[in-house]
Amino acid sequence: MSLLEVENLRTYFFTPAGIVQAVDGVSFEVDAGESLGIVGESGAGKSVAVKSIMGLIRDPGRIVEGSVRFDGRELTELSEAELRREIRGNEISIVFQDAMSALNPVFTVGSQLEEVIVENTDRSPSAARERAIELLDDVGIPNPDRRIDEYPHQYSGGMQQRAMIAMALACDPRLIIADEPTTALDVTIQAGILELFDEIQETHDTSIVYVTHDLGVVREVCDRVSVMYLGRVVESAPYEELYRYPKHPYTQSLLNSVVTPDEILDEINPIGGTMPSAVSPPSGCRFRTRCPEAVEECVHVTPRARQVGDSHTAACLLYDESNSHEEPTLREITNQTND
Ligand code: SF4
Repeated sequence: MSLLEVENLRTYFFTPAGIVQAVDGVSFEVDAGESLGIVGESGAGKSVAVKSIMGLIRDPGRIVEGSVRFDGRELTELSEAELRREIRGNEISIVFQDAMSALNPVFTVGSQLEEVIVENTDRSPSAARERAIELLDDVGIPNPDRRIDEYPHQYSGGMQQRAMIAMALACDPRLIIADEPTTALDVTIQAGILELFDEIQETHDTSIVYVTHDLGVVREVCDRVSVMYLGRVVESAPYEELYRYPKHPYTQSLLNSVVTPDEILDEINPIGGTMPSAVSPPSGCRFRTRCPEAVEECVHVTPRARQVGDSHTAACLLYDESNSHEEPTLREITNQTND
């Protein structure tokens, strides 16, 4: 049994403009101590999927179907009070993209950290202060016994994100969800934050789910990747396998649109078109309006996940469910030639 099992999750928003099918039949699993990257463009439904896990979907949205099991316990059946008391912070923590707006500017970083510790553990206020200093030290804040009394605006962007990670760690959760944790940071600061997550995963044996549009982040820290497009998972695989042998045309397009230092600019192919609306998504395969390989069948048939390798699935009609050894893709041929 995996630590987290998300099965056929559907989260819709009931708006005056129509029903937004933000997450539409998503499944993935995370084992203890494993890191999973959920990747896709804006509007893919990544953040809604992880907020659904935490019970953080608010009106006009709600989970309309599916299951979220954490350590065997069904989270979609818990009340708001049970989620707050027993799951959020204690078992699963979330780190958001924008640390500055997540931290309260009128309280010191230390008092906010101490509050989380006192609320979620049986430590006294003085023991909570000691623990807060320890946590700031653990996440690499210099002179934590002095900086604990500073306000968020006195911290740099990278340090604010580190303070948020300290809060996420305050109750020793078994799973951390990092929602675009480095998007607002400079590249050099990003690298430090990703290293910190890596260290946390190793030293605390914490599972981590990274939500990101950045395949570079995934490359740094993820064991496995699920690629989302317009509310659905289109491909899942261990990172190396996905990078070297992408099967789904969307993943191939995503990888071809990444700029790397050794890539010739003319060889970069941005994905054509824009993501359709989740209120009226295309019939059949949702990627068909942008897919260079679409055929007539893609208009009528919704592709289910097909096994295309060990621990590797792709939801694309190009692959037969019974055959996991298709012809290599163009990228595979290129990779093999470069080996
Ligand atoms: S099912 Fe069809 S449209 Fe969808 S990704 Fe595969 S080939 Fe492209």
